[in-house]
Amino acid sequence: MAEYSALALIRNAFSGNRDWKPAWRKPDPKPAYDVIIIGGGHGLATAYYLAKEHGITNVAVLEKGWLGSGNIGRNTTIVRSNYLLPESIRFYDFSVKMWENLSHELNYNVMFSQRGILNLAHSPAQADDYIRRGNAMLHGGGDAEWLTPAEIARKVPGVDVSGSARFPVVGGLLQPRAGTARHDAVAWGYARAADRRGVDIIENCEVVGFLREGDRIIGVSTTRGEIRAGKVGVAVAGSTSRLLKLAGIEQFPIESHVLQAFVSESIKPYVDCVVTFGGGHLYMSQSDKGGLVFGGDLDGYNSYAQRGNLPLVEEVMSEFVAMFPAVARLRLLRSWGGVMDMSMDGSPIIAKGPLPGMYLNCGWCYGGFKATPASGFSFAWTIAKDEPHPINAPYTLSRFERGIIIDEKGQGPTPKLH
Ligand SMILES: Cc1cc2nc3c(=O)[nH]c(=O)nc-3n(C[C@H](O)[C@H](O)[C@H](O)COP(=O)(O)OP(=O)(O)OC[C@H]3O[C@@H](n4cnc5c(N)ncnc54)[C@H](O)[C@@H]3O)c2cc1C
Repeated sequence: MAEYSALALIRNAFSGNRDWKPAWRKPDPKPAYDVIIIGGGHGLATAYYLAKEHGITNVAVLEKGWLGSGNIGRNTTIVRSNYLLPESIRFYDFSVKMWENLSHELNYNVMFSQRGILNLAHSPAQADDYIRRGNAMLHGGGDAEWLTPAEIARKVPGVDVSGSARFPVVGGLLQPRAGTARHDAVAWGYARAADRRGVDIIENCEVVGFLREGDRIIGVSTTRGEIRAGKVGVAVAGSTSRLLKLAGIEQFPIESHVLQAFVSESIKPYVDCVVTFGGGHLYMSQSDKGGLVFGGDLDGYNSYAQRGNLPLVEEVMSEFVAMFPAVARLRLLRSWGGVMDMSMDGSPIIAKGPLPGMYLNCGWCYGGFKATPASGFSFAWTIAKDEPHPINAPYTLSRFERGIIIDEKGQGPTPKLH
């Protein structure tokens, strides 16, 4: 498979773009692998780092739908590390650093754009809270700046910073190195790079059961037959509890909820950073095609459906208009939903277990897209070495038994609030 290069672009421009090879193969599953990863989101990154960092190439990624059909292709593409707790800052900053080199690493343009994220504060208490978080980010080696309303008006002219705004803006926390990336490109780039190192990516292959020897997981049953493996990684986001039930685990600290996203019709350049509204829950950026991409809260009920309902649409629109009154008459182009894996403390699980031979990656809540590189890297490490990398060491499953939770938001075990 040829490298993408300026020369290849020119050559294909003259040959009517007919010489491009498929970005990844469509192999049939083999009877056995060293490692199987279930789920073609973080699973793709995991397979890539297993091959690249650990030389483990006899690997299959099993995806029940088409590649990118899960949350990796459904998110609002925000990449950031503006967290408060040391565990989170360490992990997500590691990820941002990986993003900075990802297009080169994969030889695939993931369109990572470090346009910054601005969290608007609407009360003195919220400003104190954000400044504290900014200081924690600086202490953790990250980047953070406090902007006054006048500076915000210069940076994002569309935001209403007037005293008469329904939710007056008192300041904002900016993380300049944050940004957005093209979500499909991340799935395609990791898939192509993993495939080139020998990984089998098997689409339309749903795992419907686990093969066991006593307690040990020794493979999976799928809609394309039984496949054995020395190690089985589960990275299926909102389907985690369903998958674990197939392995006989009935109770698990993850709830599945639907999260919707929206995109408006395209307009001229209007906002050049990601902006979040602190009076409710809303995040917005502008895509390269010109659409305003935005989202808000979960729908608020447990669901496995990749679609949401109208009350939340109304809530998100009202927050959007409160924040950007000038675009109130824009038409909505599309909306969609994804099934989120909400953990009990808002932090992920990347760990060995809960059964021998099984490895778990889940609990990403609203924010697993930005984690894709670090999650894949540290999950691959955990699978290869049977021990965590220092960045995912805190993200155990047993923290819920021991009460050592990583509660970034201080919301307690209330998944729909995280
Ligand atoms: C609307 C929305 C907006 C979001 N916005 C952001 C954002 O701006 N920034 C951010 O960082 N994060 C965001 N997220 C969260 C982020 O997208 C997810 O946390 C992340 O993509 C999860 O990755 P994953 O690999 O765990 O899951 P997925 O990408 O969903 O991959 C899991 C895969 O497992 C497959 N699967 C399930 N069951 C089986 C089975 N039995 N057999 C085989 N395969 C199976 C699924 O088909 C799926 O493709 C958003 C999510 C949504 C839905």
